Amino acid sequence: MDAKHRVAKLLEKKRNIEQEIDNIQSKCSHLNKVIRQVQTTSTSFDPRWICEDCNKLLGYPTEFELNKVNFFGKKH
Ligand SMILES: [Zn+2]
Repeated sequence: MDAKHRVAKLLEKKRNIEQEIDNIQSKCSHLNKVIRQVQTTSTSFDPRWICEDCNKLLGYPTEFELNKVNFFGKKH
């Protein structure tokens, strides 16, 4: 199989996997919210609220929320 076909097959698989993840995430009620460093570009990571169960990105934590969970490990 040449590269073109292999890539096409993999892209199809990827689409199916993404659809399955979407499906799971749409059924999840996101009860286990956690703040994680999420890769936002190829070089940078930013803190985001994500669901611990389904891994869905739920939004941006505020400065207040980050401090509340002591995300950056600062001393109070
Ligand atoms: Zn969830």
